[in-house]
Amino acid sequence: MLTFNQRTALVTGAGRGIGKAIAESLAKQGVTVICVSKSADSCGATAAAIIAAGGKAKSLAVDVADGAAVAAAAATLLAEFPTIDILVNNAGITRDGLLFRMSEADWNDVLATNLSSCFHWTKPLARPMTRARWGRIVNITSVSGIMGNAGQANYAAAKAGMIGLTKTLAREFASRNVTVNAVAPGFIKTDMTTEFVNQPEASAKILEVVPLKRFGEPEDIAHMVAYLCSEQAGYITGQVFSVDGGMAM
Ligand code: NAP
Repeated sequence: MLTFNQRTALVTGAGRGIGKAIAESLAKQGVTVICVSKSADSCGATAAAIIAAGGKAKSLAVDVADGAAVAAAAATLLAEFPTIDILVNNAGITRDGLLFRMSEADWNDVLATNLSSCFHWTKPLARPMTRARWGRIVNITSVSGIMGNAGQANYAAAKAGMIGLTKTLAREFASRNVTVNAVAPGFIKTDMTTEFVNQPEASAKILEVVPLKRFGEPEDIAHMVAYLCSEQAGYITGQVFSVDGGMAM
């Protein structure tokens, strides 16, 4: 049984896939969840589903790659919620291609959405956490950031960057009782992976390197994130937890 003490969380990329599962899992445990995504429809649908199930949520559409937009959103939210105790940096995109064919726009978009977004959100939200002497930050990285992956130079660099950021902020915030950890999913069934999961040849090739021989579910990631955000995980910081069916052993 995990304990949450009426906390408030902000989850980016909560409109679909892993972020939606994380938002719903935290809400089920009594956490008030601010659901962020790019489109108002998708984060609005997640918040509505949480409220319909008896939970507490609100939604906010903001482009996490846009530093000024995030700063404005964070200021508005902090006026409404004195502390946002939990931050899950989950929003992400892929723009895959081998390096020689990768455009600068694809490099920049992936770095901005996956990595710079963590900087944009953490800076304003971590300050009240440090003042309150309690906080949980979880960054959703990837097996690609640990092992590298041909065709994903931009994504693997962004995800590896998130690991460096996680370990650094864990050291910076530890004396204030704010923990910072990363979760590294393997292949999880979401919109991001539909083209591989639903294509028999591609999926068989991927499963060759997954010791547990199946794709993960968004809930597999949500369980780990919920634990890391709970009271019980207060002595864990600066770590990267692979939830990948054994890929990155
Ligand atoms: P997904 O199904 O494609 O959902 C991505 C979510 O991120 C959506 O809600 C999307 O908003 C939001 N998002 C994307 N760009 C955004 C932006 N600029 N501003 C605000 N929100 C934005 O992805 P997923 O598979 O759940 O992945 C979630 C995280 O896990 C990502 O960081 C991904 O890199 C990581 N991950 C996934 C896998 C996997 O196998 N699926 C593996 C390793 C790591 P909209 O709904 O508005 O479009």
